[in-house]
Amino acid sequence: MQPDLRGLTRAEIAAALVSLGEKPGNAGAVFMALHRRGAQDLARLPNVPERVCRALGSAFTLAPLPAPERRLVSADGTRKLLFRFAGDAPAECVVLPGKDQQTACLSSQSGCACGCAFCATGALGLKRSLTPEEIVAQFEACLRESVDLRSLVFMGMGEPFLNWENVKKAIQILSDSRGRHFPQVKMTVSTVGVIPVIEELTASGLRVRLAVSVIAAAPELRARLAPMEKTYPLERVLAAVRRYCAAREAHVMLEYILLPGVNDRPSDSALLAKLIEGIPCRLNLIPYNPPGGPGPAAPRVKEFQRELIAAGVRAYLRAEKGADIAAACGQLAAGLNQG
Ligand code: SF4
Repeated sequence: MQPDLRGLTRAEIAAALVSLGEKPGNAGAVFMALHRRGAQDLARLPNVPERVCRALGSAFTLAPLPAPERRLVSADGTRKLLFRFAGDAPAECVVLPGKDQQTACLSSQSGCACGCAFCATGALGLKRSLTPEEIVAQFEACLRESVDLRSLVFMGMGEPFLNWENVKKAIQILSDSRGRHFPQVKMTVSTVGVIPVIEELTASGLRVRLAVSVIAAAPELRARLAPMEKTYPLERVLAAVRRYCAAREAHVMLEYILLPGVNDRPSDSALLAKLIEGIPCRLNLIPYNPPGGPGPAAPRVKEFQRELIAAGVRAYLRAEKGADIAAACGQLAAGLNQG
């Protein structure tokens, strides 16, 4: 099957034009036709010579941009869009409302192979990784839902660093000045700790922000909650994070999902504070959301936050959104947990 032209970065389109005997200088017009003008017909790309369109048509396809098959709106204004991509690969994205701006939360994979114990997506297993154009399609759908979309996070279904090549291409496509020109500094990629990709990101010219799911500070507990710990132990992940922060003079976002009675004891906050000492970070505490819907208020949450603040950590409570439509953190299961 011929590749979809919408999944190529501008540099890749330029290289493709050269290999088709055309001038690479047309790449900007082609890219703009696809990603700003929403062209649907490869034979008629606005401002692109017919000859170039014919050449591209001999090597590529241009499928219609996939549209969500289902849309759920939460009482708090959160919107969840369910896509069913080719090969029956479901994936969800979420538009999170803010005070006067919105955030899009995109999926990088259909399902996830990481198997984190608290996560509805992990329970599905991995269906497949998403293509750059499928990631772009989620962004476009979120854009249609928003009056002021200002930030973008890769915190939906999947582990973005296990589909890094495609996520990276989607980032390049979305931030390209001939397309949506969405600032990379307003994009955050979240990982459970794939060290080689953290290192690649450190050395790359990408300006996206890094978020790391800490999950638990004690190695045995973390291994039970997040099997990735066995491949990439948190201590080594945080060492890579320290190098990232130093090399880029950047802060990192650390996320800690609070599981009542599991990782929210005073000994957990003490160990956590020690482990992340000296890392320029903001720590987001996320109360656990059971897949079936809203969870009980965790009485320990505030106390846990206070213990961390007392130990010198910039700890914040993340206001969870969309729990009533299973759109909150850890709940995305492609509509499978919706009645
Ligand atoms: S928390 Fe993230 S990495 Fe873990 S199973 Fe869920 S989607 Fe995958």
